[in-house]
Amino acid sequence: MSWTQRIQDSLSQRRADNQWRQRQTVESPQGRTLRIHGQTLLNFCSNDYLGLAAQGGPALQQAAKQWGLGSGASHLVCGHSQAHHDLEQALARHTGYSRALLFSTGYMANLGCIQALTQRGDGIFQDKLNHASLIDGALLSRADFQRYPHQNYRNLATRLQQREQGLSLVVSDSIFSMDGDLADVNQLADLCQQHDALLMIDDAHGFGILGNQGAGIRNDAGLSSRELPLYIGTLGKALGGFGAFVAGDDALIDYLIQFARPYIYTTAIPPAVAEAMFDNLERLQNDDLRTTLNGHIQYFREQAQHRQLPLMASQSPIQPLLIGDERRAMSISQALRQRGLLITAIRPPTVPAGTSRLRVTLTAAHTREDIDTLLDALTELLDTETTGAAR
Ligand code: PMP
Repeated sequence: MSWTQRIQDSLSQRRADNQWRQRQTVESPQGRTLRIHGQTLLNFCSNDYLGLAAQGGPALQQAAKQWGLGSGASHLVCGHSQAHHDLEQALARHTGYSRALLFSTGYMANLGCIQALTQRGDGIFQDKLNHASLIDGALLSRADFQRYPHQNYRNLATRLQQREQGLSLVVSDSIFSMDGDLADVNQLADLCQQHDALLMIDDAHGFGILGNQGAGIRNDAGLSSRELPLYIGTLGKALGGFGAFVAGDDALIDYLIQFARPYIYTTAIPPAVAEAMFDNLERLQNDDLRTTLNGHIQYFREQAQHRQLPLMASQSPIQPLLIGDERRAMSISQALRQRGLLITAIRPPTVPAGTSRLRVTLTAAHTREDIDTLLDALTELLDTETTGAAR
């Protein structure tokens, strides 16, 4: 087989499987609405849960006057600026850890931690529905990689019990990115304590959403930093910026600086971006944003239940509606778009076969009227779908 043939075959298969992915070119800043192809759409698919993505602009302009554009190098060469340093300290304080370390993306933070910490003979235990970056981190490592069924902690306990050699690392999303449900980190912390395992939680979707002032899952679960020693937060979601961080104790952060390849061998994020995020971190601590968001989540769920929409078990801003078939999910997503609503259909391989869904995300920037508009459109479309009128 030639390269051309391999590429062509894979592309044809992708189309045939109804899994073809396409980018949308957005013509407006992020926010409650987006403009795409000249059409203004109500945006129900971003991770900008607190509506902060559009708010860092003035701080970014100001910081760019001081710092310019680029960081110039990786953190270990000459790219680690005072702006990065200050943001790290603020993130550590906010999440309740002694140190934090900035990574260029959450994907890299996850790869970096798993790959650097584990060796041949160790065991990595992950929830089956963990984010792709966590899975990829384990695939990069030489450790024995096992996936336990989603939130099945009894299964995890058996696996931990059966380990006879090496060290064990247990890894889970906090809020699962495609399902919106929440891991039981208290149970995970207990299990890790019993089996001398290290617990790593990816709080990409919980940082800024859970806990006092959005301090995240550790604070929300009432765990100490010793009980949840390895915390990952991303800056591109509730904080409305870009990048990620790992929080932990001094030794862990020193270790990552020495050994995490995705930390060492990449350019630091622009210092002006770090400084603007420092500003957004103040905004993120305003609990009014979470009160508004939680009000929206509750209202959406009550109304959706009343209208018998196929809700999933989620109390988070991620409120997927389970559709099942890929084609059906795509056609509803397209019909929503014609009505001025942007909601992505999530299909395999991102989610298991037969569980395609509309991934609705709610944000503090939405209004009650926006949510009513969404509910009305969903009710109408799902009704016509089941009666066959739209086929
Ligand atoms: N972890 C989870 C659970 C995520 O959903 C994402 C982003 N979709 C990431 C990590 C990666 O973060 P980033 O976008 O900063 O690479």
